[in-house]
Amino acid sequence: MSGRVYAKYIICCFMSLMVFGGMIDASANSPNSAEAFIKLLSGNLRFNSGLSTHTNISAKRRKEVTTGGQHPFATIIACSDSRVPVEILFDQGVGDLFVIKVAGNVCNTDEIGSIEYGVDHLGTPVLVVLGHTNCGACTAVATGADVHGSIPDLIAPIRPALEKVKAAHPKLQDKALVSALIEANVWQAIEDLFLRSSSTRERVKMGWVNVIGAVYNIETGTVKWMGTHPEEESFLTRLEKELREQ
Ligand SMILES: [Zn+2]
Repeated sequence: MSGRVYAKYIICCFMSLMVFGGMIDASANSPNSAEAFIKLLSGNLRFNSGLSTHTNISAKRRKEVTTGGQHPFATIIACSDSRVPVEILFDQGVGDLFVIKVAGNVCNTDEIGSIEYGVDHLGTPVLVVLGHTNCGACTAVATGADVHGSIPDLIAPIRPALEKVKAAHPKLQDKALVSALIEANVWQAIEDLFLRSSSTRERVKMGWVNVIGAVYNIETGTVKWMGTHPEEESFLTRLEKELREQ
């Protein structure tokens, strides 16, 4: 590795810690949650700087997680897109991440069940909803593409995000519209999860898990961290009230 690349990596790590330290809700900030987030952050910085360590991929590690069981430190829902290789882009290995892959990183019944397994049963202190640039599922929704088979049902959860983007930015078109939709769809997936998963809501309220949105750039290899949902607290409070009144 060149000295310049290594220096860039160190500076990025330091700056990211300064910036993202404040992104994690203090009330939900168990040491594990912060540590898990920093492991993802630094792993992605290693990856996009060409400094991946490829740890935890040995036969010893496989034996360890077979006999000792799995103890992943993060649950991640990402798009099925082949250009989004989750363990690789976070420079993690066997048994490190509990990953759900589905086109458009939507939160529907199966995905929510899998997330609950990772967050509730395995107890990961971080959940990342990871969108990505050039997402085909979001592009199909933004452009009104003619899709067949089971795909319309699959991408239906993305449509409310498109409506929100269009309402907020009626003039957006083409690539700008798709980019805005990709971010809005990350927030939408988090909303859908909160709406339908009481155990996730409970764990967020207790400060046992941080739910973070992010978008992976398939060309640069960098992850843009969006933080927790901007309306997380009010959303959870409102939802609880509505559910009580039902
Ligand atoms: Zn995609």
